[in-house]
Amino acid sequence: MAVDSLLQSGMASPTTSETEVKALKFIEEITRNPDSVQEKVLGEILSRNSNTEYLKRFDLNGAIDRKTFKSKVPVVIYEDLKTDIQRISNGDRSQILSSHPITEFLTSSGTSAGERKLMPTIEEDINRRQLLGNLLMPVMNLYVPGLDKGKGLYFLFVKSESKTSGGLPARPALTSYYKSDYFRTSDSDSVYTSPKEAILCCDSSQSMYTQMLCGLLMRHEVNRLGAVFPSGLLRAISFLQNNWKELSQDISTGTLSSKIFDHAIKNRMSKILTKPDQELAEFLIGVCSQENWEGIITKIWPNTKYLDVIVTGAMTQYIPMLEYYSGGLPMASTIYASSESYFGINLNPMCKPSEVSYTIFPNMAYFEFLPHNHDGDGAVEATSLVELADVEVGKEYELVITTYAGLYRYRVGDILRVTGFHNSAPQFKFIRRENVLLSIESDKTDEADLQKAVENASRLLAEQGTRVIEYTSYADTKTIPGHYVIYWELLSGDQSNALPSDEVMAKCCLEMEESLNAVYRQSRVSDKSIGPLEIRVVQNGTFEELMDFSILRGSSINQYKVPRCVSLTPIMKLLDSRVLSAHFSPSLPHWSPERRH
Ligand code: AMP
Repeated sequence: MAVDSLLQSGMASPTTSETEVKALKFIEEITRNPDSVQEKVLGEILSRNSNTEYLKRFDLNGAIDRKTFKSKVPVVIYEDLKTDIQRISNGDRSQILSSHPITEFLTSSGTSAGERKLMPTIEEDINRRQLLGNLLMPVMNLYVPGLDKGKGLYFLFVKSESKTSGGLPARPALTSYYKSDYFRTSDSDSVYTSPKEAILCCDSSQSMYTQMLCGLLMRHEVNRLGAVFPSGLLRAISFLQNNWKELSQDISTGTLSSKIFDHAIKNRMSKILTKPDQELAEFLIGVCSQENWEGIITKIWPNTKYLDVIVTGAMTQYIPMLEYYSGGLPMASTIYASSESYFGINLNPMCKPSEVSYTIFPNMAYFEFLPHNHDGDGAVEATSLVELADVEVGKEYELVITTYAGLYRYRVGDILRVTGFHNSAPQFKFIRRENVLLSIESDKTDEADLQKAVENASRLLAEQGTRVIEYTSYADTKTIPGHYVIYWELLSGDQSNALPSDEVMAKCCLEMEESLNAVYRQSRVSDKSIGPLEIRVVQNGTFEELMDFSILRGSSINQYKVPRCVSLTPIMKLLDSRVLSAHFSPSLPHWSPERRH
């Protein structure tokens, strides 16, 4: 049911709390005239930041109107801001991008020169993010009433953080939120089964163990399961597969495993795990010892109404696995957000994943839309950008934002298609992120990253005169955790056509990992959310067959380019049927929280 019709019908009264009605009314109001909200937002951003070095460079002379802004301020990408961001990160406290002090950097999963991008944030930003976050449950309650009667089993983790040379924290947005007073002082126990102590524990194994244990102890209260990424939820299932005996043991004895040594967690668990529960332990042993884990989520948590995970964009690849383990529960993709800014929410969260659209909230930032030219050469005509209120249904655009923290006309890199409107606010389907080939979780690997990694690794074959003549890649999310698979066709340097040894190929796998960006390496080393990279060597002639196959399906010979990433089932079948040998990275690549300078 649409939010507005609910409010009009007066149906909001019996189950909807006053705060929720307020939230729903807010949604209606803010979406009624997005253009005037946008004008106000831009005016605020420009007037408060008129003395910043950045805006002064473009001679705005205090103008705060859209026309002057658009005619004078250029559309930029991260590389254009790097020098300014570097100065702030080195400790320069002058008003460079924002008149409000930059309090921390949010580390984006997008990368620049192999390192995470640093997104400036000001203190008040957390309020804006919270404002949008606080709308999610009121909307969800419209579709699934009574959620406040139970709890969510959400697997939430803090990630490692660092400090810039100038002393500013640099960390992911959610880590920043969990460590904030907002979260620390919130009544999260009435909403989540996971205790704060577990969410805030830096050791992800102890954190996961505790969160799972609490989820099991409160299994009848759980009415939704979630994680930031679907891969996180699948890793939790895999963790249960590997640890159910020990977890059942803890439950049957009423004592916490000695594996958990974090003091805060131990303290907290002494109040949650207070007595043995033999019945629950036996139930778990019965369910978990079965070979077939299909539908395990609803077996263990029978009151689960939906999975709270984003399954749009790169994450659609996880839908089949989630359906398998949940027995086909609905999946709610609730929010569209980034380190730069939060953008919008899904006002129809129980719809099918293929129908998800996000309504962009005009109070979050000033938004512009660059008409997406499929074979665009990257050059941007600054005047061609369209206002939020003027986008057209069916058209695709790249999102460009201007934020309170000091990004001006910044290209986010996301391609969105307009699907309709809520009141007058446009709704967008997330199409894809520009230039991303491979993504398992928060990692984003583009064509240039992959090319460099293949080049570096293939040098290890040079000694025996072997060359990589073609390659492509695939994000294998059927394994938990998922991993990158790279297909190589080799040209041997000698007559014997002998393949390189497994030892050499394993070194190539590791060298590729060493060459990939910091987000990939952190996911491998610290988060353990990506498995070892695999190289599959295919028979000679395989890539020619791949070309024949594509031409048969309508590609033109002249325009054919080897796809650097594949996912179509017939292509995967063809490649896999030609594999001569498969090799895995034997160890972890290097990674530390500190940035390479
Ligand atoms: P980060 O800055 O690391 O948080 O990454 C933000 C990016 O993640 C966005 O620019 C999108 O490319 C992607 N993203 C965020 N939310 C969604 C969503 N709901 N659906 C698809 N992709 C998303």
